[in-house]
Amino acid sequence: MKVIVVGSSHGGYEAVRETLSDYPDAKIQWYEKGDFLSFLSCGMQLYLEGVVKDVNSVRYATPEGMKAKGVDVYTREEITAVDPKKHTVHVQNHNDGSERDENYDKLVLSPGANPAELKVPGRDLDNIYSMRGRDWAIKLKQKTVDPDVQNVVVIGFGIELAEIYSLAGKHVTFIDQPDRLFSAYLDKEFTDILTDEMTKHNITPAPGQTVQRYEGQAGKVTKVITDKGEYPADLVVEATGTTYATDWLSDTLELDKKGRIKTNEYMQTSQPDIFAVGDATMVKFGPAGNALAPIPSATNARRQGRFAGKNLVNANQPVPSVNGSVAYSLFDYKFASTGVKEATAGFMGLDVKAVLVKDTARPSFVPDEAGNAPVWFKLIYEPKTRRVLGGQIMSTLNETANINAISVAISAKWTIDDLAYADFFFMPNFNRPWNIMNVAAQNAMAIEDGHQQITD
Ligand SMILES: Cc1cc2nc3c(=O)[nH]c(=O)nc-3n(C[C@H](O)[C@H](O)[C@H](O)COP(=O)(O)OP(=O)(O)OC[C@H]3O[C@@H](n4cnc5c(N)ncnc54)[C@H](O)[C@@H]3O)c2cc1C
Repeated sequence: MKVIVVGSSHGGYEAVRETLSDYPDAKIQWYEKGDFLSFLSCGMQLYLEGVVKDVNSVRYATPEGMKAKGVDVYTREEITAVDPKKHTVHVQNHNDGSERDENYDKLVLSPGANPAELKVPGRDLDNIYSMRGRDWAIKLKQKTVDPDVQNVVVIGFGIELAEIYSLAGKHVTFIDQPDRLFSAYLDKEFTDILTDEMTKHNITPAPGQTVQRYEGQAGKVTKVITDKGEYPADLVVEATGTTYATDWLSDTLELDKKGRIKTNEYMQTSQPDIFAVGDATMVKFGPAGNALAPIPSATNARRQGRFAGKNLVNANQPVPSVNGSVAYSLFDYKFASTGVKEATAGFMGLDVKAVLVKDTARPSFVPDEAGNAPVWFKLIYEPKTRRVLGGQIMSTLNETANINAISVAISAKWTIDDLAYADFFFMPNFNRPWNIMNVAAQNAMAIEDGHQQITD
């Protein structure tokens, strides 16, 4: 069996890995149109912060390592067309300008996404950057030490960049369209704290604003104009979503209106021998009854890549649904969330209630200097069924792993009653006698059963 995998980031890597594991006799060809195999944008923040010194180390696979495993690796070689009837792909080799067709038995596509560019006047000025992939990572790093860059404007979800340029001594303006920054990930109780934290660090939050145009001098951007204000800018970073480079597939595969590749639960496209995974596809969002949703993340791409590999020959293993679990940090705060948010549940047709618990991570007798700190945890549940549907956590300590437990609880269809007395460890060096998830679920039970909530 000959398997061709297109795209060398998270989804493509896992499809190759699973194929190697399940079909050791398969001949695998792995194509990447860029000149670098397997760059992981997730590692960009650590590189920009200087924690990781070498940008070329931000990867899992090297061409040499994969060749040693028997994979034929092609970089700077782009797949530009597919013929499902003939089972061939067309390859453009950017190394020497040659072209050829390659046949396949099974084809896995993980072409990912490209950064979207705002369609506003002035977009062609210099120093308007994106944040995806190795080339942008290198350019963004250079600007952290550029003395000519004093004012940075970050647009969209560029939380890590806002922090990095602030720590590099720049003034940062953080513009986004929703009325609250990070509203896709956290409810108001959390975002209020984070917005204050930004202000303390020389970042001007500018939520609820739409960019109208860029202005510049001598070909370089100098100002961002929104519907509510104008902001000085020596550098602009757009983190305003993605587009899908799938035009070359539009005659071959079923795509949605945005250009995402439609798949079934086995990651098969409208052509059964062609699979698609990663950001260019949708995932099943479990808490909303497995509705399809665009949730771009490395974890989703990787899970899908594995299941494409598992289903190559016998398509009988459906990819599990996801809960949209994410974690981020902003200065000292670490936060994570999963499932449904109170603010957005209505859009999904869900009627939810929430319990917010503010506690200390360890017993209150443990001083902060010894590693204690406040923790905020919010549990979202559906009163009608008592099912756990979401959770959010934030602290200056790293309490984010609790959110993985909530994600498992959502997938296992746990109720607040299951969570209230779930078996979690206690040790005063780490936590409190009742885990904060127990406490929140016990409070939710008290609300639903008309009992008094006990807060300590
Ligand atoms: C700055 C940043 C930070 C992130 N941090 C996190 C994080 O902490 N955790 C997390 O879970 N997710 C994170 N993500 C999201 C995550 O990086 C993506 O969801 C993931 O990379 C998607 O993987 P993919 O394989 O679908 O596509 P991509 O990563 O987009 O890779 C697609 C690859 O395919 C190649 N390609 C495309 N078309 C062709 C073609 N026709 N022929 C040959 N090659 C082709 C491209 O050159 C590219 O290398 C982050 C994203 C960004 C931008």
